[in-house]
Amino acid sequence: MSRTRDGEEPLITVLNMDGQQLTPCLPHRAWREVERSRAVWVDEQTIQLLYNPFLFRDYRKAALKRDHHTCLWCGQHATTVDHMIPSSKGGSDLPHNLIASCSECNTKRGNRSAWSFLKENAHAVPNLMKLSWRIFIAKYRHRQLKKRGT
Ligand SMILES: [Zn+2]
Repeated sequence: MSRTRDGEEPLITVLNMDGQQLTPCLPHRAWREVERSRAVWVDEQTIQLLYNPFLFRDYRKAALKRDHHTCLWCGQHATTVDHMIPSSKGGSDLPHNLIASCSECNTKRGNRSAWSFLKENAHAVPNLMKLSWRIFIAKYRHRQLKKRGT
């Protein structure tokens, strides 16, 4: 497939698991979904998702509830979830990779690794053991999922 640089890339048709059409996306997003084993190419212009895109909402809710809506980085009220392994590095949307986070910490961390952000913020973290364990588990599960995927 050829790509143009001027933002006039053809949109890719996205189908859900039942073959229903969802909102089309740009080719690089389609490639990303496929690279993460979250979708397959049906033809050159169409991908089909292998997961339910509405689940993330539920995972997010579950993670917030599990962590009592408390930011694990600073102890403030949390309304967002933070990916331990960032999505950009193939981190999963499953609850094991999510922790409750206030939007301030979420923004501050950006794309930094969870360990280095932990080091910087160790003074503010209410429960270092708990957070370290979460990061450890997220990394461990991430490696396991990757192994299974290849
Ligand atoms: Zn916070």
